[in-house]
Amino acid sequence: MSAIDRLPPLREVIATHGLSARKALGQNFLLDLNLTAKIARQAGDLTGCDVLEVGPGPGGLTRGLLAEGARRVLAIEKDPRCLPALAEIAAAHPGRLEVIGDDALKVDVTQHLSAPIRIVANLPYNVGTELLTRWLDPGDWPPFWTSLTLMFQREVAERIVAQPGSKAYGRLAILSQWRSDARIVMDLPPEAFTPPPKVRSAVVHLTALNAPRYPARAATLQRVVAAAFNQRRKMLRAALKGVTPEIEEHLLAAGIKPTDRAETVSLEQFCALARALDAS
Ligand code: SAM
Repeated sequence: MSAIDRLPPLREVIATHGLSARKALGQNFLLDLNLTAKIARQAGDLTGCDVLEVGPGPGGLTRGLLAEGARRVLAIEKDPRCLPALAEIAAAHPGRLEVIGDDALKVDVTQHLSAPIRIVANLPYNVGTELLTRWLDPGDWPPFWTSLTLMFQREVAERIVAQPGSKAYGRLAILSQWRSDARIVMDLPPEAFTPPPKVRSAVVHLTALNAPRYPARAATLQRVVAAAFNQRRKMLRAALKGVTPEIEEHLLAAGIKPTDRAETVSLEQFCALARALDAS
């Protein structure tokens, strides 16, 4: 019997259902239920919350989320081989686990969930980054979720929490920190997974702010930040020439030296620049 519920250990689940890991689906499973419960705890108090879990696989993290008291879990899994194993978890927790067998990039989850909603996932890194950028830029703010607790390659996690002046600082840091608090809350070695990936991983926890940290129009901020970091080695007056011919004026109005490079400009300054552009 496992430490956190009455279901079989995950190695047994994997053997029973023939869940050999598939590289194409980015399958690196967490089999230690103490570890999955620890990751679930990083999401905060789950009692009274609906949790969206993307990519549950054999259900190690799902079991952690249920054991930590999530009111309901909605799990979206693309690999149909995992569905019978997930059905066993659902049967052991009547009314608390709904599973959708589909591609998470295609499902509109909001109709299945009630606020407050926390999102937790150990996903393939490419899908994780794509979903993160969608969750961070939903059109209207505040978003439907209150927090995101996501496993990433350590290098991606560092880009999310990066500060100006570091190599990791760029579009992902700006997008993440403009309307959320972002922290790395756990570090995991490759051996924590079966099979082990090539690189270290980290769990990032993001909490949605009620309003943006600094005012700006999302589309303008993103356009400026994309142009600035696309040519991050150039001075901003050159990198942003395409945005408007009067860019030097706007940079100065935002308190930025036209000879600065993108990686030294703070989030506050980028927001000021977006506002200056919109005011012109
Ligand atoms: N959460 C499980 C764990 O921690 O052991 C599995 C993690 S494994 C890194 C990623 C999981 O995401 C796999 O089960 C894979 O089948 C699933 N997956 C991959 N792409 C997906 C997608 N687009 N939508 C939903 N699930 C996906």
